[in-house]
Amino acid sequence: MQIFKFGGASVKDGEGVKNLEKVLQKFGDDRTLVVVSAMGKMTNKLEELVDLVVEGAVYDPVIEEICAYHRGVIGDILQEIPSTYVKWEESLKGWCSKVKGEDLLWSYDQIVPHGELMSTSIIAAYLQRSSRCTWLDAREVIRTDQYFTEANIDWVVTEKRITKELSQMDQVIVTQGFIGSDAEGNSTTLGREGSDFSGSIFAYCLEAESFTVWKDVKGILNADPRVMEDTEKYDFLSYREITEMTYYGAQVIHPKTLKPLAQKNIPLKVRSFEELNTEGTLISSQNTKKTVPCFVFKDNQLLVTAEVKDHNFMNEQKLGMILQVLDLLNVKINLMQNSALTFSFCIDNKEFKARKIKELLNRDFILSFESPLKLATIKNYQPDSFNFLPWNRSVLMEQKTSLNYQVLYR
Ligand code: ASP
Ligand code: MG
Repeated sequence: MQIFKFGGASVKDGEGVKNLEKVLQKFGDDRTLVVVSAMGKMTNKLEELVDLVVEGAVYDPVIEEICAYHRGVIGDILQEIPSTYVKWEESLKGWCSKVKGEDLLWSYDQIVPHGELMSTSIIAAYLQRSSRCTWLDAREVIRTDQYFTEANIDWVVTEKRITKELSQMDQVIVTQGFIGSDAEGNSTTLGREGSDFSGSIFAYCLEAESFTVWKDVKGILNADPRVMEDTEKYDFLSYREITEMTYYGAQVIHPKTLKPLAQKNIPLKVRSFEELNTEGTLISSQNTKKTVPCFVFKDNQLLVTAEVKDHNFMNEQKLGMILQVLDLLNVKINLMQNSALTFSFCIDNKEFKARKIKELLNRDFILSFESPLKLATIKNYQPDSFNFLPWNRSVLMEQKTSLNYQVLYR
């Protein structure tokens, strides 16, 4: 049993769907479970749609656009429009007329999953032309809580359902990434880019022999090729290495993907869906001895400095107060530093969170905020690694350990 995951970029058009079949024929077998995202940028479009629907604005043109996009793909690869697809067009229209004035996050989770439902119904219909293949509604097996848009997995129910439904499978299964449902039958989503995580949930529950993520890059690279020239591909990485890379903000794989795989020692392969002869990156528990430096650049950072008001030191009790607030707001610190009277920390710049931090800490601290800043991290740096940083930056905070270097600059 193996799990394949295809992201939106890999199935953005008819050619992509044909290529998916080619990958399956070349590398899959009768016991391959295929997890697919929404096609192209459809999730962004659906997010746009949700905003319009909830505001009570005119949204028909966006629905038209979404349907036309999918019908365009269908037109390129199939003779007829599958009824299994048309059903989701109708369902999408139905939900949009129902959710007006309802809670935004709940509405999001009833509407946005249609991207995945539509893409997988088209792909399953295409694969069924030439081979046995079943379409599975992931919401019937992936059980979550009601934390809409960032739902957490109920592992006990999910594992029971997945093993019951799929452990005897003897043909290709096509299912959706990113979506699940709560105990009351509401649809839920696992957070943007969550399809990687879905794949790893299936891999964990089915004790798959491997999980392969097919991407538009050769494998895991040591920097984002859009930001840096001359990137290098890692042939091997350990779960640990890659977990750290995602911690620093490398957008190589959804951060929640690694833990279930590491727990069951299931190898993760990241491979190119375009260059099928390149090996990609193999991620396993095996420690890699020497790793090439990895560069991560994060934009739109916010530096918050909290200064004590009472001329006492910034002691552990005060640090505790600040950390408690950040924990409450679910804010992750990207870099921090303390001095006698201040504590400074860098976080992703989200206006809503900044406002809350101000509200909750204003009474005890003098707060200052600066944004938007950039944060560069070099993991496993070498002497010449620093040449890659912009030379004219004005530095606000800098930290160096024996392994890692981080700098926050304007
Ligand atoms: N379609 C969803 C998104 O674009 C999930 C995913 O692609 O992993 O965020
Ligand atoms: Mg996507």
